[in-house]
Amino acid sequence: MKNQTSEDSIVGKRKNRLIIVVISILFLLLFALILLARNNHQFQDKIFEAALKQRVQLPRAGLGGEQNLDIVFCGSGSPFPDPINKRGQPCLAVFAKNHFFLFDAGSDSAAKLAIYRLPLQKLDHVFFTHLHSDHFSGLGEIRLLTWVQGKSSPLKVLGPNGTKRTVEGYKEAYFMDSTFRIAHHGVNALNPSGTTYQTQEIQISKEEKSKVVFEDGAFKITAFLVDHSPIKHAFGYRVDFGDRSLTISGDSIKHPNIIEFSKNADVLVHEALNPMMVKALEKRFDKLGNKLAAKLMKDILDYHTSPLEAAQTANKAKAKLLVLTHIVPPLPNALVERVFLREALKIREKDTILAFDGLHLRLPLGKKTILKGDFRP
Ligand SMILES: [Zn+2]
Ligand SMILES: [Zn+2]
Repeated sequence: MKNQTSEDSIVGKRKNRLIIVVISILFLLLFALILLARNNHQFQDKIFEAALKQRVQLPRAGLGGEQNLDIVFCGSGSPFPDPINKRGQPCLAVFAKNHFFLFDAGSDSAAKLAIYRLPLQKLDHVFFTHLHSDHFSGLGEIRLLTWVQGKSSPLKVLGPNGTKRTVEGYKEAYFMDSTFRIAHHGVNALNPSGTTYQTQEIQISKEEKSKVVFEDGAFKITAFLVDHSPIKHAFGYRVDFGDRSLTISGDSIKHPNIIEFSKNADVLVHEALNPMMVKALEKRFDKLGNKLAAKLMKDILDYHTSPLEAAQTANKAKAKLLVLTHIVPPLPNALVERVFLREALKIREKDTILAFDGLHLRLPLGKKTILKGDFRP
């Protein structure tokens, strides 16, 4: 019995020694690899070449066309910085036929559009929902990217009253930049017409409620009034292409026009602010003695829509997929996302999702399907 026990302990010790030897060899190999990576130029060049091939590619082809309505989220956040999920300020790209349109252009959207390899030289229109800075602050860099990718015609910008003034500001701000780049690269490479804008302000009276702002055969965009008071005016947009449709709420309280213009829509992209969470933020700022931040948290409660209200709107309109965007506050992890959605999921368990930057939705014409993809590298 005693002999058996000592044999077991010898076998056990040998096993432990073997494990230690294997781990040591692995560490040595790893160390050797790190040394090689740090000192071998050939090895480093190979790594660089591989990264270059993966990162530098032609813009994505095949979006839109005659058969698909394609939607790409290039910003699903809000003015709040979002360090974890990296949801940027509002931006939604829409492709149909040979058109590429943006709805809003928040400050992070130029980089996102480039990272997702969207064909920026083809961007023809930018539609603003309203003139809060988180919805237009990326315009200058977006125009710059379209230009350096070969666009040689003015970028068309449509939005509510004040759009002309805002765009004039961007023209002025980028004047020196454009001058320097043309002088450096030459007019043959960078056509000066690509630095310009063509602006149109959309006027919709309360009685009119809505206006068709773009039409090309079966592809139609309708702007409609929403309520984001005191901001005058704020629009939502409905996009129809053949038998497929998308409605964008813009920033608004729960509003009957959003219900009306998302009737039977395939996708309703609705803004969402969780009041319980924002009230908690207000309390937190108050406790920290930051009275201004606490007041701002209190103020923003009165001109947005809760996830529950967005779900009520989607249910009433019989919208097929509800995608919540303009997420306030930023959500640090999947569990907090559940808290954000808790009340909404009680009345709309299915077909309710949170947008993320890089989310791609494809709506093939003549079908009922909504294909989901992810453009993040
Ligand atoms: Zn706003
Ligand atoms: Zn906003």
